[in-house]
Amino acid sequence: MEHIVYVSLNSIYAVPIETGTPLPYNWQKSSTFSTSPTGKQPLMRDGFDHQLGRPQAMVYPDNHPDTTKRGQAKGVKQILIERRLWRAGLRLECRPQKATSKKPATTACAPDSRDCCAYRILELQRDFLAQKGKLQEMVEAENHSVLFYPKFHCELNFIERFWCAAKYYTRENCGYTLADLRLTIPEAFHSVSSSSIHKYYLHCVHTIEAYKEGLAYGTAAFAQRMQKNHRQVSDSSKW
Ligand SMILES: [Zn+2]
Repeated sequence: MEHIVYVSLNSIYAVPIETGTPLPYNWQKSSTFSTSPTGKQPLMRDGFDHQLGRPQAMVYPDNHPDTTKRGQAKGVKQILIERRLWRAGLRLECRPQKATSKKPATTACAPDSRDCCAYRILELQRDFLAQKGKLQEMVEAENHSVLFYPKFHCELNFIERFWCAAKYYTRENCGYTLADLRLTIPEAFHSVSSSSIHKYYLHCVHTIEAYKEGLAYGTAAFAQRMQKNHRQVSDSSKW
């Protein structure tokens, strides 16, 4: 059977959430995973508490004495209580703070912190660490593979150059009405040749190679390294 390698953005936005999906795909988002059950959270599949050596349901059972909780997501507080990891005064999450005249700005959780907030404690649990994203599970279930671009590195994603070329074509050829756009956008996609797409790909490969050599993006050495490849592969993208 053909083995397909998918390449995807590494983003929660690339992996849509469906209500009832039994996975903590988006559990980090406080809006969908609060300390108490709200009935709006995506339901998660069972986890496994490695410390206590037992599986843990993420949803209240259908025979729970409190009928309002039956079938509802437990929420991070209850999950941690059952794991004996909740403590009085524990905050749900660390929010980034803007700088004030008195205090400097702070990021969310400190990078080396292990128990600053409920989310950090939970995300470091073995079963949560082992949880793959929905996209990866779906692709691997069909015996294909998926690779993720590193976050915040659009220069490594050659589809960005494709979008750029298509947008350039659209800007140059559009009559600036909705009807025109509907005609121009499909034309714009077709205007980018396969050989251009291959060049965009090679450009990204060379960028990765420059990183692997330890060169920092934006430096003269990096530009020189890319220039060397540029002579081998001409880059006419408009970005
Ligand atoms: Zn934290």
